[in-house]
Order: sequence, then C-alpha cells, then structure tokens
Amino acid sequence: MTEMVDFLMVGGGLASAQAARSIREVGAPGRVVIISAEAELPYNRPPLSKGYLQGKEARESIVVKDQPFWDEHQVEIISGRVATGLNRAARAVTLDDGRVFTYGKLLLATGSEPRKLNVPGGSLAGVHYLRTVADSTAIREAASKAKKAVIVGGGFIGAEVAASLDVGGLDVTLLIGDDLLLGRQLGAAAAAYLMSYFKPKGLNLVTKAQATEFTGSGQVAGVRLQDGRDFEADLVVAGVGVTPRTALAEAAGLPIDNGVVVDAQLRTSDPDIYAAGDIANFPDERYGRRFRIEHWDHAKASGKTAGLNMAGQARPFDHLHYFFSDMFDLGLEAWGDMYRTDEVIERQASTREAGHPAWYYLNEGRVVAGAIVNGSKEERTAMQELLKAKPEATGDMRKELAEGKA
Ligand code: NAP
Repeated sequence: MTEMVDFLMVGGGLASAQAARSIREVGAPGRVVIISAEAELPYNRPPLSKGYLQGKEARESIVVKDQPFWDEHQVEIISGRVATGLNRAARAVTLDDGRVFTYGKLLLATGSEPRKLNVPGGSLAGVHYLRTVADSTAIREAASKAKKAVIVGGGFIGAEVAASLDVGGLDVTLLIGDDLLLGRQLGAAAAAYLMSYFKPKGLNLVTKAQATEFTGSGQVAGVRLQDGRDFEADLVVAGVGVTPRTALAEAAGLPIDNGVVVDAQLRTSDPDIYAAGDIANFPDERYGRRFRIEHWDHAKASGKTAGLNMAGQARPFDHLHYFFSDMFDLGLEAWGDMYRTDEVIERQASTREAGHPAWYYLNEGRVVAGAIVNGSKEERTAMQELLKAKPEATGDMRKELAEGKA
C-alpha cells in the first residue's frame, strides 16, 4: 500500500525532529511523517554519556518533545522501522515492513553508526559501544555490577564516559591512542589542560595505547594493548568514532563525498531532497569551505534550516558551529572552525590557574575558533561575536586575547 506524505523525514533523531517542528511553526499544510529506526521518540543524545548514564536524568527528560506535543502538531512518528529504499523517479521511500511512502519533500537525516574495533574478543559480552539510549541503558546496568571499566578511545565518548563512570565509583582506565585526551578535537594546548584536569581525578590515563585484543571467555575480562600490557576489565566501552549512514542516499544516486553533498540551503542535487545532521556535507560561506559536523547543536540547527527550506523558504545555513562537553564539573564549549587551524593563543595563566582558561584558534592570521572552560555568559557571548566576525589577528588583538580583554 502506498501512502502520500507531504514532508517525509528519514531518521528519528534531533535533526528530523527540528525539521518537523519548523515545518509546523511556519504553518506549512500537509502530512508530516518521521521514520525512526529506534523504538523511541526523537531524543537528545548528549545526556547518554553524561547525566543519563550517571542515572541523574530520567528517560522522559531527554526526549525532544513528548507524544502529546507531536500529536498536537500533527507530526506522525513511525518508530522501529528502517527505510530500505529510495526511488527518486517515483518519489517514494520503502520501509523494511514493505510500506511505501511517496513524498513532496524528503529529508535524509540518518545519522551515524559507531565504528567497531575489529580485534579478537570484539564480540565478548561486556564490550559496549554508545550511540543510542538503549546502549546507554545497557552500559548503566553493566556499570552497576562492574568494578573495573576500560574505556577505549580518547575522543568525546571516551572522555565523557570515563568521567561518568568514575563519578559512579568504578575503577576506570582510559586508553588514549595518542598523547592527549581530545587532542585531535581540541588541539594540543586545550587538550593538555584537559589532561591536567583529569589526572588528579584518580582515573588511570594510559597514552599511546592501541587496544589489540579483548581477553576473556564469554564475558570480557581485560584489554590487551599493542605493547603487551594488560588491563583488567569487567566492562569495556569503546568510542572510536562514527561513520555517516549514507547508504540510502548513495543507492539513490545522490552525490556522496564525505557525507551527502548539499548546497547552502541543505538541498541535495535533487531539489526535493534535503540532508541534515551528521550526514550532511555542506558549504559554509564564513569559512569558504565544506564541512560535515557530528555534534548535537549541528543536528538541531541544520534540521531547523532544512525544515524551513522544505516548507518553501530559502534560508542559507550560516550557523556558527558549536559544541559543548561536560566532564566532572568542567564545562567546555567551543565555537567556529576548530577543524583547520595553524596557531593557538591561550588566555593568560592566571585565568587558567583559576580553572577558567580559554583558547583562540587562528588560521592564516584570522581568529576562526575559540574554546572556553566554565565561561560566564558575558565571555561566551563575546567569544561568539568575535568568531562571527572572524577578524584578522593584529598585534593589539593578540595581546588582548592573551590578556583576556578581547
Ligand atoms: P570522536 O570524538 O570522533 O573520537 C574518536 C576517537 O577514536 C579518536 O579521538 C581516537 O582517539 C579514537 N580512534 C579513532 N580511530 C581509532 C582506531 N582505529 N582505534 C582506536 N581508536 C581510534 O568519536 P567518539 O568519541 O566515538 O564519538 C562518536 C560521535 O559522537 C562523534 O561524532 C562525536 O563528535 C559525537 N559525540 C559528541 C559529543 C559532544 O559533542 N560533546 C559527545 C559524545 C559524542 P585516540 O585519541 O585515543 O586515538
């Protein structure tokens, strides 16, 4: 049976939820349907490695909106179903239960898949990856019975899960591939600060660590490194990056290049198909290049813009990139293009010693990104304004940035 839908979203995460909300906010008429592979209402993922994992946030509190909201706004959510085919000529999406939906406008927001470590013992019980609320619940339950946790990967999942499990009273070992926690994501100066912040917390931070085997029989008992060192574990969580889910778009012949290629309005080469969230590879006029971003704020902002444009507007996606991370009582925030920088100005030592450092990232002499720890509202606003302007860093400005006067 074929059903007709005016606005169809494939992917049940934040990007689709925001798109549906903005379609309704501008009063676009017609049927709005979200297809979600998970048996959940759209929810926010940040708590999965933080408050929800620690048992401080309830399941109901992480949803984007509750069922009465979606009912009231006439957004249908079909959960537990996967889109298996996209036929652009017929403007139709097929689900794994055989249902077919034709669309007026389609959003692809299929998100990412955690990368799996292909090592011996990889499928032992007790080895976890974290992407969904079900994953976080499983880790939480395993943590309640575990004593020793080994976290593999020094990225966002690794840092946040290690902090959360340490707060929960586990003996935590964090295996970092390189020298610094979040070194690739934050650059050396900020990552060195983060290491110095983590060290006194009592976790076992192991650098230059490549996990080559999970040991144990049936249930994981330890992790072996490339240099032969062994770490006991009754719980392992690996956070070694993600892969964007582009298969549906690719099979439908849409251009793929590190994600689904879209224009400044988040539209693919097919004028009726948009992409948002982790999978979208979009041009950014502010930095004069393309990006693909895997953060909560990006899913939210790009979903909103895609929804508005699906509803007939023509908004460029010009959002200032942003991410945040909470570990113990440290709140880290960053704005701008953290991904291509050649120089960092660190705010003076006194603010660092007060647990309040900031870093400004430059590229070819321009200030393109900034990061701050536990920033005040005023500092955060000032940093955003500065980065929107992307100024040239003159001698005076460098001095002001270093002295915390900018
Ligand atoms: P990530 O932040 O991209 O970090 C991946 C880490 O995996 C790298 O830092 C690297 O750590 C390690 N790695 C990469 N290849 C590896 C390999 N072959 N073997 C072992 N380690 C390898 O990804 P994630 O931590 O898995 O997080 C998943 C996604 O969720 C990301 O897109 C992330 O942005 C997002 N996320 C965001 C937040 C946030 O914004 N606060 C929080 C959680 C998750 P080493 O340095 O140890 O080599």
